[in-house]
Amino acid sequence: MAIVRDVLDDGLGGLEHNFLTGRVEDLVKWSRSRSSWAATFGLACCAIEMMGTGAAHYDLARFGMEVFRASPRQADIMIVAGRVSQKMAPVMRQVYDQMMEPKWVISMGVCASTGGMFNNYAIVQGVDQIVPVDVYAPGCPPTPETLIHAIETLHQLIEDGEIMRRRAATGAGANVHITEIAAGATTTPIVLGAR
Ligand code: SF4
Repeated sequence: MAIVRDVLDDGLGGLEHNFLTGRVEDLVKWSRSRSSWAATFGLACCAIEMMGTGAAHYDLARFGMEVFRASPRQADIMIVAGRVSQKMAPVMRQVYDQMMEPKWVISMGVCASTGGMFNNYAIVQGVDQIVPVDVYAPGCPPTPETLIHAIETLHQLIEDGEIMRRRAATGAGANVHITEIAAGATTTPIVLGAR
């Protein structure tokens, strides 16, 4: 309406305040970063924190992520939430392979990232042996604040194209480690739109 009114009032000169210009590539990266859907894939206790992050108090819908997809073909983020057993590893890889490109992986918690306290033959000692990890969220379990930090970091990597550059250069994930945020921490609040 504003465009029509301004054109009628001011002629073509009225258009100058009604246009944004940009590159299609930037628009695609921006929209990708704000419409990522995670595959429903919880493995252990970390998954409880992941579910809590999606619930009303933390509300992943703020990031365009309110739906965890039951089909990997409708998901582009895998959050590995919990320790990965040797038996589950090929299943996890199959789910990853069925996800659409481009796709990203967050390793949530020390068990997924390193095997954690499960230093034994039954547990995969680092999920990066199975899938390319883009962001590591530390903690046992990571708090919802830490997971949101990881998600925001991933979104930033998608938006500025860094993740694709690293993947092309190394053939692996971005491998970014973030710092842990204590539950309810007031010193490092998650502020939307501040990045
Ligand atoms: S990191 Fe802690 S909370 Fe997460 S799966 Fe391992 S033991 Fe459970």
